[in-house]
Amino acid sequence: MHGLMMDMPLLISSLIKHAAQYHGDTEIVTRTVEGPIHRYTYAEAHSRARRLANALKGLGVQQGDRIGTLAWNTHRHYEVYFAVSGMGAVCHTINPRLFHDQLTYIINHARDVYLFVDATLVPLVEQLADEIREVRGVVVLTDEAHMPKSDVLPRLICYESLLDEQRDDFDWPLLDENTASSLCYTSGTTGNPKGVLYSHRSNVLHTFGAALPDSLNLSARDVVMPVVPMFHANAWGMPYVTTMTGAKQVLPGPQLDPASLHELIESEGVTFSAAVPTVWLMLLSWLNETGNRVDSMKSVVIGGSACPRAMMETFGEKYGVNVRHAWGMTEMSPLGTMNTPLLRHANLSKKEYYDLCENQGRPIFGVEMKITDDEGRELPRDGKAFGDLRVRGLWVAKSYLGGAGSSAFDEDGWFSTGDVATLDANGYMRITDRSKDVIKSGGEWISSIDLENLAVGHPGVAEAAVIGVKHPKWDERPLLLIVRRKDSKLDKAEILTYLQDKVARWWMPDDVVFVDELPHTATGKLLKTKLREDFADYVLPTA
Ligand code: ADP
Repeated sequence: MHGLMMDMPLLISSLIKHAAQYHGDTEIVTRTVEGPIHRYTYAEAHSRARRLANALKGLGVQQGDRIGTLAWNTHRHYEVYFAVSGMGAVCHTINPRLFHDQLTYIINHARDVYLFVDATLVPLVEQLADEIREVRGVVVLTDEAHMPKSDVLPRLICYESLLDEQRDDFDWPLLDENTASSLCYTSGTTGNPKGVLYSHRSNVLHTFGAALPDSLNLSARDVVMPVVPMFHANAWGMPYVTTMTGAKQVLPGPQLDPASLHELIESEGVTFSAAVPTVWLMLLSWLNETGNRVDSMKSVVIGGSACPRAMMETFGEKYGVNVRHAWGMTEMSPLGTMNTPLLRHANLSKKEYYDLCENQGRPIFGVEMKITDDEGRELPRDGKAFGDLRVRGLWVAKSYLGGAGSSAFDEDGWFSTGDVATLDANGYMRITDRSKDVIKSGGEWISSIDLENLAVGHPGVAEAAVIGVKHPKWDERPLLLIVRRKDSKLDKAEILTYLQDKVARWWMPDDVVFVDELPHTATGKLLKTKLREDFADYVLPTA
């Protein structure tokens, strides 16, 4: 027997329609790529998204066509998100920091028919021009006054002129909710990038899940600044969540330096933001140097890589900003877990509270998780056993575009995340490593992430990485690589003494190397494959 409720599809267009109607005068503020601050409202954004949808039709874009974007967080990129998905095409966000070969691979694999590109990124597309043959034209996200010239790209279209020609009478089609809405490739630190193809249904369900009080906790009373780029796993869902809740948005454009971010936080009264630890590391050290504060900020979500404890303590104790440690993946739309305390944690001491914060958090409703051993057997949820983290849920991919990487999806419908984790009796998950990064010493596993987090707790350490290096007796032993803070004279003896009473003896790094910088992926994560290559022949003093 079926229920007798209306069968309304879950559609991305319904989010912006609602915002325009019920939060029509709430602002979206952008630091544009051209420089000046732009402000308008949800009502105007909706009108322009509808004009863009008409323009896309005029360009011959059909439902199901992929439209690539190479763009920073701006109002124009936001309009592309809603217009492309809303009309039934697929919004394919591309990370401009990827290497040339990855960019051409992704654009060709996705078969993008148009690219929407910030003016400053046109030279990047020019370099790809010969290799991206299915792209029919490049729309530059700017006005006539700022249009670049190009001898290489035959069809360069001005975004503002494209919109000027259109009316805003577009009616969003009533699509099947399982229609593909957007596409994002994983960065592919091993092998080719893999495409994750989201649907309207998965995105809207993720938006509900992400908005919950124990997730991002956003409302119409918030001022939200997504620093995590819109090309990185849909800016962790924030364009959709802010729209569903009617929060004011502050889009920082390409300028992500601490002074520029701080200026927006102060002038717009930002209450909430989200980004990877590297961004906050720079902001916190700038605040410390300049004596500035971020008094309007209530909370930040930090994820993408493990959030160092020292960062959560500084935010919490010095600036009164609540840090929510989050974990997710492109394959999970991306939110999987969020760290918030439970009722039973009301009376924790400060130390106990920050101990808890170091976990990656508990699953949001809609996501299930378990840990397994090498044979796929489930391991206990005791906070001690660690194994491969597997997930399934309402917004988790069931395969990659084109069927690549199928071994990550098992026949029981679970996805292997490639992360190694513990789960405890209260449901808190803790990442101990990427499965490729875990250090195997004498058959036991050492968590490189735990060691890195401890090392960055030393005031002289700006950034740290730990990798396993060959050892004749133990197979692998940890090597600690450190980028010193400006003016720090930290040496090996001092950092090892600092770590001594914080880790088990057999976890202590066998050596410490000071480096000027560490390699990162296009999404700002430590590029450990490169470090392992660079230190492949490194001889430890203990070897
Ligand atoms: P990429 O394209 O860089 O792989 P993802 O955002 O999809 O981008 O990366 C997901 C991976 O990032 C996770 O599988 C995990 O290894 C890591 N990660 C994300 N959040 C955290 C976190 N809070 N702590 C530790 N690792 C994290």
